[in-house]
Amino acid sequence: MGKARTLAEPFRIKTVEPLRITTPAYREEVLHKAGYNPFLISSKDVYIDLLTDSGTSAMCDRQWGAIMQGDESYAGARSWERLESTVKELTGMPYVLPTHQGRAAERILYGILGGEGKVFISNTHFDTTRANIEFTGAKAFDCMSDESLNPETELPFKGNLDIEQAENLIEQYGAENIGAIILTVTNNSSGGQPVSMRNAKEVRALCDKYGVLFVLDGCRVAENSYFIKHREPGFEHKTYRQIAQEMLAFADAFVMSAKKDALVNMGGLLTLKDAKLAERCTNLLIISEGFATYGGLAGRDMEAMAVGLEEVFDSDYLHYRIKSTEYLGRHLHEKGIPVVRPFGGHAIYVDAKKFYNHIPVHQFPGQALVCDLYVQGGIRCVEVGSVMFGKYDEAGNHIPPKSELVRLAIPRRVYTQSHIDYVLDVFDDVIEEKQSSKGLKMVYEPPFLRHFTARFERIK
Ligand SMILES: *Cc1c(COP(=O)(O)O)cnc(C)c1O
Repeated sequence: MGKARTLAEPFRIKTVEPLRITTPAYREEVLHKAGYNPFLISSKDVYIDLLTDSGTSAMCDRQWGAIMQGDESYAGARSWERLESTVKELTGMPYVLPTHQGRAAERILYGILGGEGKVFISNTHFDTTRANIEFTGAKAFDCMSDESLNPETELPFKGNLDIEQAENLIEQYGAENIGAIILTVTNNSSGGQPVSMRNAKEVRALCDKYGVLFVLDGCRVAENSYFIKHREPGFEHKTYRQIAQEMLAFADAFVMSAKKDALVNMGGLLTLKDAKLAERCTNLLIISEGFATYGGLAGRDMEAMAVGLEEVFDSDYLHYRIKSTEYLGRHLHEKGIPVVRPFGGHAIYVDAKKFYNHIPVHQFPGQALVCDLYVQGGIRCVEVGSVMFGKYDEAGNHIPPKSELVRLAIPRRVYTQSHIDYVLDVFDDVIEEKQSSKGLKMVYEPPFLRHFTARFERIK
C-alpha cells in the first residue's frame, strides 16, 4: 500500500475572493478596539473565518448558472416548480413551504403546534428551535443519555435521542400535550454528533405508540447520512441520498435551514405530510413570509437551493467534507490539544478549560483562546462556554456552564487543505505561547445573548 495521499479538494477554483494578510500587531490593535470580542471585528480583518458553517458555503458553477435562470414571477414561478419537485423527491412529503431561513419554518410550525401547556421533546433543541417553542409558552425538553453527554466517551452516534427519557416525559405530561418530538440531525448543539437510523426508527415507533407528531430538523441530513453509511451496519451499499430518504420517510414533518446542507447562503424549508397542518402553515406563511410559491425567497435563490440539494449528496463532496473536518480534529489531537471526540460533521471543539488550565473559568479561558487564535493567525472562531452560557447567582457570583469550549466551524467548500494546515500551524504558535496567555475581564454585557456584544479587557 502506498503512503496515504493528501485530502485534495474534489473541485477546482473558477473565481477567487482575495484575503488580506495582516500582522499580529495590527490584529492586536483591531481586537483591542473590538473589546476582545471577535463578533465585533470587521470580516476584512479576518483571514480564516471559522465563526460558523451557516450561510457561509461557496456555491458551485452550476448554482451560479441556475441563478441566471431565476424566474421572479410572483406566483407559480418556474424556479419554484423546480425547487418543489426536488424537495418532494428528496423528502417524499407532498407539501413544501419555502421560507427565508430555518427559524422562519420553525416559527410557523411551532407557532401552530405550541402554546401554553404544550411540551416538545428533542435530542437537543437548537437555540432558535427552543426560542420559537418557548416564545409560544410551551416547554422544551432535551433527552440525551449520560453516556452521550460525557465528552470522553467514543460512541458512533452520540447525537441520538434517549427513548426512555422521552417516553417518561410523554407519560408525565400526557400524549395529548406533546407538541412534537423533534429529532435534530446532526445534533448541532451537541457537537454536530450524528443520529443513527435505528434511533429515527425508534422515534417513529414511539410517536406511533402515543399518536405524537415526528419532526425531523434535518439541516445537516446529508452529513448525517455519511456517518450512517460508514458506521451503522446494513447501510454500506446504500447511497447517501437513499439513506437520507429512508430517514425522512420516518418523519411527519421536516424543517431545514438551507444555509447548511442546501449549500446556499440564505433560505429555509418546511415540508409536511398532513394536508390540514399544511393548510394552517401555508396561511401563516402567506401572512409573514410571502406567497406560497416563494416564501421569503427570490426565484434565483430557489434555483440555487434546488441544485445545492442535489449536489450535497455527491459522494466525493461528502467524503471530502467530513474527512476535512476530521483532519483538523485528528491533527489537533496529535499535537496534544484537547478536542471533543469523536469529531462531529461541521465543527471541531477545543476543550479550553483543559488546554488553558492556568486561566480560571471566571476569566474566560475559551475567550482567551479565541483572542489568541485571532492575534496569532487572523483566525476567527467562537467561545461556547462561560461567555455564552455563564450565569450569576443571587450574590452576583459567576456560575460557569459544564464546559469551556472553542468551536472551529468549517464553512462548506470555502477553505482548502492548505488553509486547514495553516490553522494547524497557528495552533503550534499558540501552544508555544500558552503560558503567557492571560484571562479576560468582562467590562460590558447586555441583558440577553451577551456573547454577541460583550466587551472585555485583558487581565495584566
Ligand atoms: C441553523 C439551525 C437552525 C436555524 O436555521 P436558521 O437558518 O439559522 O434560521 C435550526 N436548527 C438547526 C439544527 C440549525 O443548525
